[in-house]
Order: sequence, then C-alpha cells, then structure tokens
Amino acid sequence: VADVYSAKQRSQIMGRVKGFGNVATEMRLIAIFRERQITGWRRKFSIFGKPDFVFRVERVAVFVDGCFWHGCSVHGTVPKTNAVFWRAKIERNRNRDKLVAVRLRASGWIVLRLWQHELKHTRKVANKVLRVLARSRHSNRRRDQYKRPAVGHRR
Ligand SMILES: [Zn+2]
Repeated sequence: VADVYSAKQRSQIMGRVKGFGNVATEMRLIAIFRERQITGWRRKFSIFGKPDFVFRVERVAVFVDGCFWHGCSVHGTVPKTNAVFWRAKIERNRNRDKLVAVRLRASGWIVLRLWQHELKHTRKVANKVLRVLARSRHSNRRRDQYKRPAVGHRR
C-alpha cells in the first residue's frame, strides 16, 4: 500500500487525535525536567483543570497546549472539512483554558502554559519553568515572613 501521507501530514493528523500528541509532548517535557534536574513535579495531580504537571510545594500548575487543539497562532490550522465544527471546538478549548487559569489563580496557583512548539527549545522552556518556580519560592518566603513573629519576640 502506497503511503499517501507525507511525514508532515501524518504528524498533523496524529496530533489531532486527542491524547496522542499530548502524551508525546508530556514525555518531552519530562525529558527536559530530567536534563535540567528540575524536581518536585507530579503528573496527573487531581485539581481543577487537570494540569499536565504540578509543582505542589510551589503551587505551580503547568499545561502543555497542543498547537492544533488550543489554536496556536503560529501552527493552529483549521481543517477544511467541517471547518465550522473545528473552529467552534478550538474556540471552546481556548475559553476553557481561560476559565481554568482564572480559577486556579484565584486559589493561589501560578499557571504556566507552554505551547507544544516551545518544547523544541529545551533551554528556553527549562528557563521559563525555573523562573516561575523561583518566583513562587520568593513569594512563599515573603508570605511566611508575615506569619512568623518578629525576631526576639516572645509570647
Ligand atoms: Zn504552535
């Protein structure tokens, strides 16, 4: 049987099969975490919006958004067949993303959304994650200072 699809077309098609593209991108991000020795993350941690990864201590929720499913402005394409359906579907995903971010932030989470295409740039992604983690640690420390009694204070 002749292969009717080019490699690019095939990866576009596979990327649209829900779940498939996402597992590959999650594995990619895990590889980046390992490479840069970023620890403390968990997968499938059950909170609102089901982030792909959470850093529980730092309260950072990480989402990896598929370029197709979340309508990336660079690679997001709408299939010609059933264009109306796909456009509505992607729009719903994007609205959901916004709602999830608002709800999580309201309960003290830092939300980090990464595009699937960003994962090609290992160093950039790792630095982004590290920056967010550092920001969280910093604000946690400040919160703790308010809770703690002043030095020398006795009850
Ligand atoms: Zn993209």
